[in-house]
Amino acid sequence: MKYSFTIIRIRGIPIELHLTFIGLLGLLVILTYPVIYPTLLFGILFLSVVLHELAHSIMAQHYNIPVRKIILYPIGGAAQIEDIPENPRVEARIALIGPFTSIIIGLLALGIHFIYPLSFSTIPLFVWTGFVFFDVGVLNLVLAGFNLIPAFPMDGGRVLRAFLTYFRKDFVLATENAATIGRFFALLMIFSGFLGNFWLTVIGVFIYLGASQEVYTARISSILKPLRVGDVMLDRENVLTVSPNMQLSQALDLMFQAQVKDLVICTENSLLGVVTWDQLLKIPPEARQITRVGDLHIKPLSIMSENSAFDAYKIMMKERTRLIPVVSTEAPCNLLGIITNHSIAYSLEIGRTFGIFPRRNS
Ligand SMILES: [Zn+2]
Repeated sequence: MKYSFTIIRIRGIPIELHLTFIGLLGLLVILTYPVIYPTLLFGILFLSVVLHELAHSIMAQHYNIPVRKIILYPIGGAAQIEDIPENPRVEARIALIGPFTSIIIGLLALGIHFIYPLSFSTIPLFVWTGFVFFDVGVLNLVLAGFNLIPAFPMDGGRVLRAFLTYFRKDFVLATENAATIGRFFALLMIFSGFLGNFWLTVIGVFIYLGASQEVYTARISSILKPLRVGDVMLDRENVLTVSPNMQLSQALDLMFQAQVKDLVICTENSLLGVVTWDQLLKIPPEARQITRVGDLHIKPLSIMSENSAFDAYKIMMKERTRLIPVVSTEAPCNLLGIITNHSIAYSLEIGRTFGIFPRRNS
């Protein structure tokens, strides 16, 4: 099931509303009906958050880091940036531009308010109302201040890590230190939330979990980034491949013998892609005799042997697949082997125990 819906694309980045966001908006309209002002303010705040996240995204794109999407949740937005920049200056710039944008919007709105204090209080439906530009200005400054809290996944956490990486020269260590400081702030929020503001407790828990996730990702990336896919792949002779003309029932038999869950599809001389376990499960048993492998949608997945194992890990997460066919730059249709989730897990285990997975000579 999809939990978020794309409303618009800007610079190729889909902007999605999460279901909980739509729910909260609906609740707000019902609770405050027939007064319009809170909904109007929520709408403007939502636009401000989009601008904040777009600023992060455009800065990331400026450094050639792809941005997958921007999702808007009731407690704020999140730009899903594909890679963690390990260069501290780049990370600091991408993190700081968001709050900077909110501060500019906030100051502009406050400036307009002092010149022209707009209020709708004379229009009957707006009865419960404040000054629009004043409220928008203050809300944007609060948004900037909140995001500068030095805790993951807030922007302040990233700025802190960039600062620590710059001085300590060790990305993972800097992440661990930043996460410890972040957890301290999270606990502070959780406990002060108990004193009256429940919302603060919810955000505190969210920040606490964010810190652990960040350390996990930093550790994984530090082990997998120096590893080439070619170092950890299974060679072609150990890979089960099937032809698109094969009957599905026959392909399943081969699959069970080889004890794998996804199929690599090849014609006699070229790689076509992957059919995953989830796709195979959708075909009812009675149809397996009459379906050919090629009738299913073959995902045209592959990765170059020179790419890092971290790239492979990211593709597996995104495409929900357990294996990726490996090819070379010179012959992109020629299967060299596969990299699997087991290869990734094994490399991580070896990396944690011995420092780094050994490189192959090639
Ligand atoms: Zn931000």
